[in-house]
Amino acid sequence: MDDKPGIPRPSLSRLPLYYRFLVRASEAGRSVVSSEEMGQALRLPAAQIRKDLSYLREFGRPGVGYPVSDLLASLEEFLGLANDKEAIVVGAGRLGQALASYPGFAAYGLRIVALFDCDPAKVGLEVAGRTIFPMTKLADLVGRLHIQMGVITVPAQAAQAAADAVVAAGITVIWNFAPVQLTVPEGVWVENEDLASRLATLSYRIVRRGRRTGTEGTEGTGGTEGAHAS
Ligand code: NAD
Repeated sequence: MDDKPGIPRPSLSRLPLYYRFLVRASEAGRSVVSSEEMGQALRLPAAQIRKDLSYLREFGRPGVGYPVSDLLASLEEFLGLANDKEAIVVGAGRLGQALASYPGFAAYGLRIVALFDCDPAKVGLEVAGRTIFPMTKLADLVGRLHIQMGVITVPAQAAQAAADAVVAAGITVIWNFAPVQLTVPEGVWVENEDLASRLATLSYRIVRRGRRTGTEGTEGTGGTEGAHAS
């Protein structure tokens, strides 16, 4: 499945940073912000921000800045943040329960409606008001409620079977936390959240810093040095 037509994946992945910045600007009573100001706050080149935002639509006259409320509304529409999206969690263990209990996803229109697990000792329990169901109920619930997203938080060896189950039930978007590459049919989008490989990157940084004798580098693709951008 493609990203939003026309927008490259790196640009798409930066849009939530702009969104969070604009929410704070709006809360602070700002009506206009410039790409330079956003760039300074987010440690990104202003030209990059203008390019990323040009995928949404044209905004006003160059040099005048972005109207905060218009840009927020465009980002919400473009990213589908205003639409309610319902998800299920497969694997009601430590991570699955933590994600299901996290209230912050509501700001992105995401509502986790149920959890599924193969462990009979967990079935029937509640997590933050959501019931843990047996896997045998997955297809029926997903079909009835037209659930669009499946969050996979089972051990690696069970992840492909979990993905097969959610895809067979009609889910087309998977947020996968298991450290494994899933095979899915065309038309199904998988977003991998590989925390272990991120940790490996941090570990590498720590080791390098220990070996360094003074100079601070800024190489790398995923991280930023200095204050965090988001
Ligand atoms: P966990 O053992 O606490 O939970 C896994 C859950 O999946 C259990 O409740 C188990 O009963 C269930 N399960 C196992 N096989 C299943 C199947 N076939 N169908 C349905 N349910 C099944 O594990 P965890 O710590 O929550 O980690 C879950 C996944 O997330 C793992 O792949 C792990 O590598 C990854 N992960 C976890 C963390 C973390 O902080 N906990 C961090 C990074 C990655």
